[in-house]
Amino acid sequence: MNNEKIEFYKNILLSERGKVVKIIDGIDKRWSKTIRDSVGDISAYATHLADLGTDSNEREKETYMLEREVRNLKIIDQALKRVYDNTYGICNFCGKDISEDRLRAIPFTEFCIECKRNEERINNNNRKNY
Ligand SMILES: [Zn+2]
Repeated sequence: MNNEKIEFYKNILLSERGKVVKIIDGIDKRWSKTIRDSVGDISAYATHLADLGTDSNEREKETYMLEREVRNLKIIDQALKRVYDNTYGICNFCGKDISEDRLRAIPFTEFCIECKRNEERINNNNRKNY
């Protein structure tokens, strides 16, 4: 892959990363604010945390979202690392080039479509075995 193309995908990855970081920051701020608003006094913090079970529905959703975004961030960072390592666009399993159609659809993918399909098949088989 030539530098121009690498640069193109790198920019996509960086802008995706920016979005993810923004979401994580947003949740982070909301959480601290909620805690501050409802507790006020930091000494009541521990007691409040113990009571969180009652209003945890929203928090649970956000925890789920936060976990997902943190996972996305890791995946994007791994892809960026591959950009800097000059291994971007190469399948991590079979070492062949990943098709550009696939990279355009999923810029942070580390497997070519064949390996990804095989992986899914393997996972499905595993699931059936349980
Ligand atoms: Zn492959």
